[in-house]
Amino acid sequence: RKAEEEARRGLPARTRDGHEVEIGANVNRPDQVAMALSQGAESVGLMRTEFLFLERADAPGEDEQFETYRAMLEALDGRPLIVRALDIGGDKQVPHLHLPHEENPFLGVRGARLLLRRPDLLDIQLRALYRAAKARATSGHALSIMFPMITALPEVQALRAACDRVRAELDAPPVPLGIMVEVPAAAIQADVLARHVDFFSIGTNDLTQYALAIDRQHPELAAEADSLHPAVLRLIRLTVEGAERHGRWVGVCGGIAGDPFGAALLAGLGVRELSMTPRDIPAVKDRLRASDLSALREAALRALDCETADAVRALEGTLEGGEA
Ligand code: PEP
Ligand code: MG
Repeated sequence: RKAEEEARRGLPARTRDGHEVEIGANVNRPDQVAMALSQGAESVGLMRTEFLFLERADAPGEDEQFETYRAMLEALDGRPLIVRALDIGGDKQVPHLHLPHEENPFLGVRGARLLLRRPDLLDIQLRALYRAAKARATSGHALSIMFPMITALPEVQALRAACDRVRAELDAPPVPLGIMVEVPAAAIQADVLARHVDFFSIGTNDLTQYALAIDRQHPELAAEADSLHPAVLRLIRLTVEGAERHGRWVGVCGGIAGDPFGAALLAGLGVRELSMTPRDIPAVKDRLRASDLSALREAALRALDCETADAVRALEGTLEGGEA
């Protein structure tokens, strides 16, 4: 029984009609990789590097970061790793960086905005990442870098330029560069941004917060901050359309990727990769394996037309294979 269950976790998330969705894990430390793989992860779709900066007195230097990224790649043994550049600000405060107080940190100097104002932080991280790519170059490095909280094209261009410069300095191999789509402006302009990046990963936690104007940590409004709200789904659809126009792929690494029904709708919307908390992986894989892509596409179209989040949620009962 247990052996059967373990074997099932290792199967790909392939629908009954043969469409495969890549299943990644959100993992921040090398020592968590083995556990994620045992749950059936095929990659790490989101490594939140701000965790390297928390619960300590100072920022990790270039060598320490390099060792961590190299250890991640080693633990993954050739499987893809997407490292997200520092996403500090908003709900992620780091006291030892001594950043100025902001009245509205969620609308302030956060993510890419901070990286572009602090080239010291950005350079150290990029150097560590390109060194890790170089160290693993002979075995195929499988590393991608993505940038958080992108709002507009000039940010992407400036970050790309920083990557190109560091890569040249280190004579390192190219690394695919992606962005998080978590600001509505980025979703709406996805067709523009897609020309300039290799992939998108939608951060549905923040995209929901910014689309619905609900603080993602607000205790009273938690129930209304639903990532399956039709307005959020329409932003996801726009992102996929924009990416497809330029041959780019789209993943989702926000919490809704780990919800079996959410994962089913995202696959139906054209999302190719889902990255989630490791413990959510088995149920998501089971859900997708019990589905036909054609049915998921139909459900996604109906969800886009729903008037309310509740109406989207009610579609769950209409999907076949739901109790598999
Ligand atoms: C998100 O916003 O959905 C996301 C994955 O990033 P974080 O939760 O780290 O802000
Ligand atoms: Mg986010």
